Amino acid sequence: MAQSAAAPLERLIEQFTKFPGIGRKGATRMAYQILSMSPEEAAQLSQAIEDAKTQLHRCKVCQNYTEEELCPICNSPKRDRSVICVVENPRDIAAFERTQEYQGLYHVLHGLLSPMDGVGAEQLCVKELLARLGDDTVKEVIMATNPTVEGEATAMYLAKLIKPLGVRVTRLAYGLPVGSSLEFTDETTLYRALAGRDEL
Ligand SMILES: [Zn+2]
Repeated sequence: MAQSAAAPLERLIEQFTKFPGIGRKGATRMAYQILSMSPEEAAQLSQAIEDAKTQLHRCKVCQNYTEEELCPICNSPKRDRSVICVVENPRDIAAFERTQEYQGLYHVLHGLLSPMDGVGAEQLCVKELLARLGDDTVKEVIMATNPTVEGEATAMYLAKLIKPLGVRVTRLAYGLPVGSSLEFTDETTLYRALAGRDEL
């Protein structure tokens, strides 16, 4: 029987199955890994989880995770405030920063539109994005969502909202294979996609 583990172990396995891509087998392996840790190691792990949840919150401008009110990118006087690159999640920012070519700001949506899963615009950080376009500072918004069905639909949806505000909307030029993930795209490909962006 699958549910034969002792109750505390079963609860731990249950928690790990919540991670994306982790099934019952993987979760069981992780739970046993924790049991094999020293009490100090296990305490460090739970402390790290608690610290991340209590000390990090969303930047009030771009919605990336940060310890301060504003993230270091929004706070930097060196960044070009006329361009905002819109991404699905904070991990995508790291990918763009690795190119060392992009100097503008970011906006994290924290998801993509997905009617099938019941995710609509109100679940994403859309109104926070539109609020940033109120004055004349931002001249261009780059849609840098992944080249997937949801990524394309989200980019088109946002372009329709943003263009009437008189802001230029562009899309990454994808030499990227359809369905691929920005997060795992190498710097050169990503830089090319950025440099060759098209009008939406
Ligand atoms: Zn920020």
